[in-house]
Amino acid sequence: MYRFSRAIYRELANEIVEGPTTAGTISNHERVLKACESAIERLATDRHYFARPARSLFNDIRPYFPMSSQARVFQVIDRYIACADEFLSRQPMTGYDLAGNPLQCRATTRKGTPCQRMPLPHNGYCPSHQHLAETEETQAREAALAAA
Ligand SMILES: [Zn+2]
Repeated sequence: MYRFSRAIYRELANEIVEGPTTAGTISNHERVLKACESAIERLATDRHYFARPARSLFNDIRPYFPMSSQARVFQVIDRYIACADEFLSRQPMTGYDLAGNPLQCRATTRKGTPCQRMPLPHNGYCPSHQHLAETEETQAREAALAAA
């Protein structure tokens, strides 16, 4: 998985601006690499709740790049995040995410505890909670219509 974060970092490393570093603090290069890694990690473990991952990573690391690089930085992030996302969506269902955590349905049961069933990969809900995914879609459509 980290090949995606390393690829983002490698493409952008030349353009990172280093401020004056004092002893004991980490460099901007390290900050950028860490931000890329945590974004990819989150994409791998929490894909359904990670809205607009490319935008979010861009906001985290843009202060470390000059104004003239910003558009390219976003393009690079967007491209690799799309690859990573596509890679993740093709993973076979093993019952575990790539960090080894068991996959669980996103729904909460009537008792208020998280549903323990195995979710379907396309929407993160187990078969008995599929109606929640439909409700979500309807709400998203209605919100989109209301905003139009
Ligand atoms: Zn469920």
